[in-house]
Amino acid sequence: MKLRVGECLCGSGEDYERCCKLKPRYTFDYHTYNQFIGKRARQYDQFKMPCVFSNCSEPVIKSHTIQNNGILDRLAVDGHVYETDGTAPDGYPKIELKKIGRNETSLFRCLCNRHDAELFAPIEKQPYIGSDEQNLLYSFRSILFSLWKATENRNYWKTEYFDKYNIFHDFFEGRAGGMYEQFILSNIAMQDDYARIRMLHDKYMRAVEERDFSILTHRCFELDYEIGFACCSLLYTNTLPNGGAIDPNLVAEVGKENYYPQMTVACFPNDGKTHIICSWLNEDIDNAHYGKFFAQMRTTKEVLDVFNIMLPTITEEIYYSPVLIDSLTPKAKAELCRVAGAEPMLVGQYINTGYQWLNKKCGFDLFRMVRY
Ligand SMILES: [Zn+2]
Ligand SMILES: [Zn+2]
Repeated sequence: MKLRVGECLCGSGEDYERCCKLKPRYTFDYHTYNQFIGKRARQYDQFKMPCVFSNCSEPVIKSHTIQNNGILDRLAVDGHVYETDGTAPDGYPKIELKKIGRNETSLFRCLCNRHDAELFAPIEKQPYIGSDEQNLLYSFRSILFSLWKATENRNYWKTEYFDKYNIFHDFFEGRAGGMYEQFILSNIAMQDDYARIRMLHDKYMRAVEERDFSILTHRCFELDYEIGFACCSLLYTNTLPNGGAIDPNLVAEVGKENYYPQMTVACFPNDGKTHIICSWLNEDIDNAHYGKFFAQMRTTKEVLDVFNIMLPTITEEIYYSPVLIDSLTPKAKAELCRVAGAEPMLVGQYINTGYQWLNKKCGFDLFRMVRY
């Protein structure tokens, strides 16, 4: 987000003097804030975006983030799966394992009924054979979910805060606490996030419309047994497994927005096997970053050790089978919650830990074989 001098930070395009300065003050409340930074996308479902197919005016439906009903059915026991969920009982975030109905798993609203069925038919109706088209569709799922979440976040932030209050008052009066700054930075991050995801989405959509599925590079791994979780994630890591940071030259300006390489990971058990599909755009900067990322791991076992820590840390869109969770010790469950609640800033640290201590036992092994 780029702003003129004097322009209001809320993104209205007006000068602060004529915009938020005229609104009532917002009283900062840590508790509300923490609820807000929790799973707001799921909580605030009131904004309806149009179907993302061009020229489509059909109403959007709810789509499951974990694609293919068969996967959720596989994970569920008596119709239930586990997620790690954040609450803020005393104003501080607390992460716990929560059992939820299979139908309560993560949803997004980007597609009308017809386009949802048509777009995902090759992975919903056909067995997974690892074609470029199927791999792109698994990846597209995370992009669409992220687009929806970024849109909801942006809209929620706007209607609940910026349209109502002057949340910048103390900031400009020089009484800013760290939280105010975080508030404002979050807004800017949210706008950037949206722009970035939108751009990714447009590239995927063009690939689908032109049936050119070769825009992505994939690293796919197949295990000859079934695991007890599934995820559908868009993630960005600035850390390489050996602890090196992302090369600053790889963070390029594309158009007006800062552009960071992102990778999608779809991971699911299916038909006696497990598939892990990691995808990123062929464009040079992405290839260089994630190419390096994978080049630092020598065996599939090392990839799994890194992902074991990385996936629960980075993604909310991960669901565990009760078969797996019930097999964990209380200590292992606590460790999983700790990892799931780690600040994204600490992700690098966790990944390093995962990599550097390959021989040291992590409290949980998400990639262990389960028998459903
Ligand atoms: Zn304003
Ligand atoms: Zn449509």
